[in-house]
Amino acid sequence: MDATCRPAVNAIECSGCGGCVDMFPHMFGWDDTADRPVVKDGRFPCEEVRQAVAICPRDCIEAVDEA
Ligand code: SF4
Repeated sequence: MDATCRPAVNAIECSGCGGCVDMFPHMFGWDDTADRPVVKDGRFPCEEVRQAVAICPRDCIEAVDEA
């Protein structure tokens, strides 16, 4: 089975552009109060998490907890 990961968002560095939520709505929700993405529950294929890492314009998404 392919490795799974969790995405982690650095909310301080995040600009709130919404790109991650637009492209990966199954991984990210949106906190309207904080105006920042929230990582949804569960684990995701590391390859997908790395795609989210790659599209973030602020380099503030990390792939963590690979298993
Ligand atoms: S793509 Fe990056 S900067 Fe944009 S909302 Fe997501 S985590 Fe924040």
